[in-house]
Amino acid sequence: MMYIYKMEVKLCKLCNEVKDLETGYYKAGGSYQKYCKPCHNKKRYEYKMTPSKYVKKLKGFSKLPAETQEKIIYDIYVKIQYKEIAKKYGIKYQTLLCWKRKGLIPNYEPPTKEERLNSKTENEPAVL
Ligand SMILES: [Zn+2]
Repeated sequence: MMYIYKMEVKLCKLCNEVKDLETGYYKAGGSYQKYCKPCHNKKRYEYKMTPSKYVKKLKGFSKLPAETQEKIIYDIYVKIQYKEIAKKYGIKYQTLLCWKRKGLIPNYEPPTKEERLNSKTENEPAVL
């Protein structure tokens, strides 16, 4: 392989250093990365360490598991404090309030008389 005598250089936008294109940058798919090797690695490391910063946050009440949704709806119905509910299900207090404010959390609908009777016979032994 012939030695390239004319060095190509590139400014790294992250550390503001001009580096040799051949040795200072990773190549990906025919073009060089935006940042120099150390910066690129650093970025990747940061990404690994704090994925939550890059992963889109859970959006909206409806993205919660159905079971959790039901429990929260019921907890609100029985007037458990939002702070406690948030803690219970590992949701941010502010997020929970926001959902409520936006009307994303439906109101609890008490079971009909029939449903109550059914669940009673199924789950609870008759108390004498
Ligand atoms: Zn750099």
